[in-house]
Amino acid sequence: MARDRYFIAVDCEGVACAVGKPGGTLNDSANYAFVQKQATREADAAARALFDAGASQVIVCDGHSSGINLSYDLLDPRCDIMLGSGYPERFPTMDERVAGLLFIGFHSRENTKTATLAHSYSSETYQWIKVNGVEVGEMEIDAAIAGRYGVPVIFAASDDITVSQAQAAFPWAQTVTTKRSLGWTSALCKHPARVCDEIYAGVTRAVARLSDMQLFGFEEPLCAEFRYKRMDAAAAALHVDMHGEPFAQPDPFTRAGTIASILRLF
Ligand SMILES: [Zn+2]
Repeated sequence: MARDRYFIAVDCEGVACAVGKPGGTLNDSANYAFVQKQATREADAAARALFDAGASQVIVCDGHSSGINLSYDLLDPRCDIMLGSGYPERFPTMDERVAGLLFIGFHSRENTKTATLAHSYSSETYQWIKVNGVEVGEMEIDAAIAGRYGVPVIFAASDDITVSQAQAAFPWAQTVTTKRSLGWTSALCKHPARVCDEIYAGVTRAVARLSDMQLFGFEEPLCAEFRYKRMDAAAAALHVDMHGEPFAQPDPFTRAGTIASILRLF
């Protein structure tokens, strides 16, 4: 069976020229509209490189916020597009014919100093999330879900801190740095057009190195811990372990329990 399909998971915080609003999020920022356009351009650069290297299908997953961000008509017309919210699973239609997962515009995890827009799922909800005792962010969790389908992470483009987290977790993957993080609200960015050129070149290299790519995953069953910002949120959280019992609450802010697989994390 030919492995020539790809998924590009697209978030918006890590793309060129995206920063947060003081006291707010990316969505509150004055350049949000530009950032959504730039996320489109970066996803398009990755998709073009994949098709030019022989991909039969590229699925662009619009994942930021409620999943409606990109200018779909500006994507390469050969792309298919997964958009919106409320999916039955994280990556519908992902199977063993998918040769790789690519991250565009992802951000570093919560608990990371000076990283632009660092958070884990919700900057208002979690201080950190750990799996088997190790802090993880959205990239590691998505990578482990893809790993369950036998799909490796092959590429990531984001700010320097997010890229260093990607390199630590997926040392085989090709990476492109879009900007140097200076804080939640600031960054030193490469020109957005140059970033797209570098993404095209980086994805081309990643596909040429497909045989180097490895699967990311966690030993199962796995221990999941959620550290909340508010104790009332921790108390109300509805985490259920592999025996159907509510997660333990080792301290007022933390919920912890054992689950059968990463597919059951949320
Ligand atoms: Zn986002």
